[in-house]
Amino acid sequence: MVLTELELLHFRNLVAQELKFPPEGAAIVGDNAQGKTNLLEAVYYLETFRSFRGAADQELATFSKPVFRVEARMVGGRARSVAAAFDNANRRKKVTVDGTEAAPLSSALGNLAAVVFSPADVELIGGGPARRRRFMDVVLSLNAAGYVTALQRYRKALSQRNAALKRGSSRAQVAAWDQSLCESGALVTAARRGWAVSSRDGFGDYYGIVSGGGKARLEYRSRLADRCEGDAGDLEAGLRALLEDAWPQDERLRTTSVGPHRDELLISVDDGTGEVSARSYGSGGQRRSAALALRLVEAATIRRARAVEPLLLLDDAFAELDDHRSAQIMGLIASESTGQVIVTAPKRSDIDAFRGRLPEWNIRGGRVEA
Ligand code: ATP
Ligand code: MG
Repeated sequence: MVLTELELLHFRNLVAQELKFPPEGAAIVGDNAQGKTNLLEAVYYLETFRSFRGAADQELATFSKPVFRVEARMVGGRARSVAAAFDNANRRKKVTVDGTEAAPLSSALGNLAAVVFSPADVELIGGGPARRRRFMDVVLSLNAAGYVTALQRYRKALSQRNAALKRGSSRAQVAAWDQSLCESGALVTAARRGWAVSSRDGFGDYYGIVSGGGKARLEYRSRLADRCEGDAGDLEAGLRALLEDAWPQDERLRTTSVGPHRDELLISVDDGTGEVSARSYGSGGQRRSAALALRLVEAATIRRARAVEPLLLLDDAFAELDDHRSAQIMGLIASESTGQVIVTAPKRSDIDAFRGRLPEWNIRGGRVEA
C-alpha cells in the first residue's frame, strides 16, 4: 500500500495542508510537541477511524475548531481514497471510501493497511490481559473476514446476559442470550486461536532478532480453546458446556465468568534460566523487544491476510534503544518490508539507518516541510 497524498483540516495542532508522499515514504524530524505523533495519528485514523493513542474523537479537532477532516489517497490497495470527518457538535462521524459514504463504518476498516510502532507499545506487554485482547481484536477486525461482526455480536450478547444476571433474572431469562453468545464466541475464539498459531513462529523469530538472540513465546490462553480442539461448531458446543458448569458461580457473582472476554495472549520470555511471563517479570528491554515483535507480527498478518505490503508508521519507535539495537531493527524492517515507511524522530541521529533511503522532512508548529 502506498499513501500518495494526505489532506489535513483542523486535526490537532496540524495546519491545514496537503502532503504528497513518495512511494518509499519519509523521515520526519521535529522537536518535541511539533506534531509528529499527531501526523501519524491522522494517517492511522483513516485505517481504524479512532485515535491510536486512545483519544476521544472530540479531542482531535484543533482547539476552538468544531470539526476536523482527513483524507488519504493511495495506490496498490482496494480503495483509492478514504476520508473521515468528525463534527464535535453532533458527534457525527462521516467516512467515505472512493467518495461513497461507508455504512456500516466497519466496512471501511483497513484501507491503508497501516501499522503503527510507538514507544507506548510497551503497554501491550506490561498492561493487563484486556490490553492484549484489544490488540488481537484490532488485528483480527482488520484482517479476518467476519471478525468484527462476530465480536460485536458477542459483546452485545455478553452485556445483555450480564445485565440479566445483575438483575437476578431466572436461569431461563439469562440463558436466552446463550445461543448468540455461543455462536459468536466460537467464531471469535476460532479466529484468535488460528491467528496465534500462525503467528507463533514469526513472533519468536522477530523477538530473537530484535533482542539480539533472546527467546520469547506467544501463546493464546483460552479455557474454551484449551478444552476444544475442533472447529467453530465444536467450540460453540464447548462454550455452552462451560456456561453450564459455570452457572452456580455466574449466578452468585452476577456476571459471566467464562468466554473469550476472559482470554489472555500470554507473552513469555526466556533468559536461559527458565520461561517467565514478560508482563510480570520481563525487564524494560525485554518488554520493548516483545512489543516490537508483536507489531512486526501485525505487519506480517497484513501481508498474509490482505496480500498487500503494509504501510509502516514508526513514531519515535527506537527512542529508548541503543544505536546498535536500533540499527539492527531498522535492518530487519528494511529486509522484511518493501513497502512505504513513515518514520518520525526528534533528532536526525535517531533515524540514521534511514538516511539515503528516505527523504528527510521537517515538522514545526504543525507544519510539515518537505
Ligand atoms: P514528542 O516528540 O514530544 O512526542 P510530537 O511532535 O510527537 O512530540 P505531538 O504529540 O504530535 O508532538 O503534538 C503535541 C502538540 O499538539 C502539543 O503541543 C499539543 O498541545 C498539541 N495538540 C494536541 N491536541 C491538540 C488539539 N486538539 N488542538 C490543537 N493542538 C493540539
Ligand atoms: Mg510524539
